[in-house]
Amino acid sequence: MSDSWENSSLPLPRAFTQLLAMPSSLFDAVVHIEYPDWVDGTVDWDRPYVTDEDRMRVAIALSRRNVECRTGGPFGAAIFEAESGRLVSVGMNSVVRHNNCTLHGEMVAFMMAQRRLGSFTLNGTGMPMHELHTSCEPCAMCLGATLWSGVRRVVYGAAREDASRLNFEEGPVFPESYKYLEDRGISITRQVLRDEARAVLELYRSQSGKIYNG
Ligand code: ZN
Repeated sequence: MSDSWENSSLPLPRAFTQLLAMPSSLFDAVVHIEYPDWVDGTVDWDRPYVTDEDRMRVAIALSRRNVECRTGGPFGAAIFEAESGRLVSVGMNSVVRHNNCTLHGEMVAFMMAQRRLGSFTLNGTGMPMHELHTSCEPCAMCLGATLWSGVRRVVYGAAREDASRLNFEEGPVFPESYKYLEDRGISITRQVLRDEARAVLELYRSQSGKIYNG
């Protein structure tokens, strides 16, 4: 890799040049993911969120704040205990902020919930049922992770075509993909507060926000 770069006439970014010269033992193989500093001022961790609309408003508020603070793309998500309405975790698109293509809002919410509960599944023995609320219809990666996450329900706001209008790629999601999840006991609720969720996508577009992937 370094030979081809060094032999090419393209200038290398300075940081990248330093990286190539660095012995591999100096690489710190740790992926660090953290919330932006505005999260605690945006959500109330202590109150129960009772209705689907209540819960979706959390996801949408996160998506909006992420755009306003320019910390990522226009997507937010949150995981709740289904019965109590307790907020377990939140997520916001963090792809550009952390240079990590997997950090969609839903993925961040899964990771933070599982970290908080100390469990690789949100459907562990003795656990209450958990559900995901996301401001936009999940992409292929997030829908796949939904199956492994242990949530028993997915609720989304804006539709796939709303994201596609901004040229975000949602990947191979088909009606059969949803049926696959439903056959395994995961229920899907579509387009809750779609207009409010879509307005954040439009805000992002009006700011000429970066389009990276889904
Ligand atoms: Zn996704």
